[in-house]
Amino acid sequence: MSIKSEAIGIIDKKKDLICGISDSIWDHPELGYHEDHAAGLYVDTLRAEGFEVETDLKGIPTAFCASYGQGRPIIGILAEYDALSGLSQEADLTEKKAICDGGPGHGCGHNLLGAGAFAAALAVKQYIELSGCEGTVRFYGCPAEEGGAGKGFLARDGAFDELDAALTWHPGDMNAVSSGSTLANYQICYHFKGRSSHAGISPELGRSALDACELMNVGVQFLREHVSTQCRIHYAILDTGGRAPGVVQANADVLYLMRAPDLAEARDLRERIDDIARGAALMTGTSVDIEFVKACSNILPNRTLSQVLQANMDELGAPVFTDEEKAYAESFRTTMELKSNAYYMSLINDVTDEAERAALLKDAEAPLHELVLPLSPVERSSAASSDVGDVSVVCPTAQISMATMPAGTAMHSWQEVAVGKSSLAHKGMLQAGKVIAGAAMDLLMDPDRVKAAKAEMDRRTGGKAFESPIPADVKPPMGR
Ligand SMILES: [Zn+2]
Ligand SMILES: [Zn+2]
Repeated sequence: MSIKSEAIGIIDKKKDLICGISDSIWDHPELGYHEDHAAGLYVDTLRAEGFEVETDLKGIPTAFCASYGQGRPIIGILAEYDALSGLSQEADLTEKKAICDGGPGHGCGHNLLGAGAFAAALAVKQYIELSGCEGTVRFYGCPAEEGGAGKGFLARDGAFDELDAALTWHPGDMNAVSSGSTLANYQICYHFKGRSSHAGISPELGRSALDACELMNVGVQFLREHVSTQCRIHYAILDTGGRAPGVVQANADVLYLMRAPDLAEARDLRERIDDIARGAALMTGTSVDIEFVKACSNILPNRTLSQVLQANMDELGAPVFTDEEKAYAESFRTTMELKSNAYYMSLINDVTDEAERAALLKDAEAPLHELVLPLSPVERSSAASSDVGDVSVVCPTAQISMATMPAGTAMHSWQEVAVGKSSLAHKGMLQAGKVIAGAAMDLLMDPDRVKAAKAEMDRRTGGKAFESPIPADVKPPMGR
């Protein structure tokens, strides 16, 4: 047996530990920057496994970095563990039922994401031990992916500067290497201030902050026609100024999330929306305070690293599911509006081999995807955003998706939460850990590949150093 397969084998040997961590984090869902249970569990386990751990990474209490090995290359493996607000859900139940009404839940599978990355880090450590090779593995505990830009703040403060490459994954319903970019985004909160008064007796004395909010939103609806089609603009009114219609609302807050294909366009969009907010304040005689909350870069794809991941995914394969797991998946599929499989189909467009194509078409209809999709010859971007974007412009970065949920499951749904502790989710997670570990081992043994990945990144950025979209004086939104 090769050292590589022996090292990957540790993932099966330690699967109870790995699945136990994932389940424990599922059982204790924590929102971004409040992941005390998850971070504590990882830090203790990593220390017990022989990693050196730096806690409070860049001053963030639930961020950490665990490392093992000496010298270069330094390969980073990125983990997440935050949950989503309002998605509390009983495990394995095929109907929507919260464990705790309004409580958080793992609707993005970050319990699995972190534990799969942990599995990979364990195997890479084992490889370094067995082979005695030069090189370091770093496991990054990255808090607050959901709306908190944890990696963005860590990147701004230099946490990833020494990395030669970063690898990660995301739970999903497909087994594929991500080939494309994501959208850059800005999250800005507009705080309007007016003057309260009796809405019936002396309306002329009032200046309504709620009116300003509404006019701002109307202004933005008109803006939508004049932005590029990939842009996305979303908002949530956080404060409507109280519950009394008879009082002119003196305060109102609206939080905007704006996305564009790259940072320059996102910045431009943000400036235009800032102007609309100022216009709304002017129209209503109120004032507006513009608060920067967070921002992230679009992901810079790295074909060189994606190919290393694809080779390992092709070799190790996708998870193989039992008939019980397929029936379990089907029972959830009947409860949902299935997501379109257009993305899946786009990845098999270019497959010319008849038999391979027929197998993939069959897999496209299955309740659980069990085949590895080919690496797309063209970059296929997503309309989502991820704080992995900021890492990808600091060091070459690539990621995969592995099937941990029924085919067609929407992300951030109660169904995704419900299946998060199932045997099929565990299988996908362990398999993701193996593929990432295999790719990291290949990079440790092939300095030319590492150099090629860096050269590709420099080519794409034009050699321009990373400029964080987050101003230096902005603190992570820990209290939000
Ligand atoms: Zn998410
Ligand atoms: Zn996620």
